[in-house]
Amino acid sequence: VSYKGRFAPSPTGPLHLGSLVTATASYLEARSRGGQWIVRMEDLDRPRCQAGAAAEILRALEAYGFAWDEPVLYQSARDEAYAEAIRRLGDLVYPCACSRRDVCRCAEGLPPGRTARSLKVRGGDFVLRRADGLYAYQLAVVVDDAFQGVTDVVRGADLLDSTPGQIYLFRALGLPVPRYVHIPLVRDAQGDKLSKQTLAPPLPLDDPAPVLRRAMQFLGQEAPALPVNELWNWAFSAWDLRRLPHGTEIDSGLC
Ligand SMILES: [Zn+2]
Repeated sequence: VSYKGRFAPSPTGPLHLGSLVTATASYLEARSRGGQWIVRMEDLDRPRCQAGAAAEILRALEAYGFAWDEPVLYQSARDEAYAEAIRRLGDLVYPCACSRRDVCRCAEGLPPGRTARSLKVRGGDFVLRRADGLYAYQLAVVVDDAFQGVTDVVRGADLLDSTPGQIYLFRALGLPVPRYVHIPLVRDAQGDKLSKQTLAPPLPLDDPAPVLRRAMQFLGQEAPALPVNELWNWAFSAWDLRRLPHGTEIDSGLC
């Protein structure tokens, strides 16, 4: 496969306009290149996940005309793969006894009398397995992008800071590094990123076409008023990544 993209939501609540913009960019970039596109549920953080949210997200994607090429992968079913990756990292992994407040020097050995809470990676010095036993997002994303053969990641600029750590892990594991595009985040009228935390409204499912058109317009595409299927067909040929707004934020003005 020459191009394989993905959308990887966390099922902590329903999709909102910000997540639709990200999904649309990743879908259009894949389809306009004749590539494949998959959906992965990043449901690692079980305590934060909401029952039924994954099914609700998939229903919304279907209503908005997205079609994915493989069965949805659930990170909650992938613990064994993450454990195996930690074994493969070998000496790069070290136990850490710190809480968030501590200045961590555990790479040089655990301080006397302290017990390990989490596992970290040497060089990157970020957590691979958390104190609560859950695998960290950074590790799971890398293991799963490689496992699923993802060649290109299109995602929100809020994840820009985590990209160097992920590239570091791909290299440390001897896995191919995907190409990355980070798209600007949609901000609400208060200047906050649209998110579940800022109570962005869920996507309406009864009349998706105008909302999908707005998502494309946020991405700099002059989308016409069309029904969903025709809108996608227009966008598959018209999509141009170079028309993305510059910078890391888009003012929605309307949200
Ligand atoms: Zn530490």
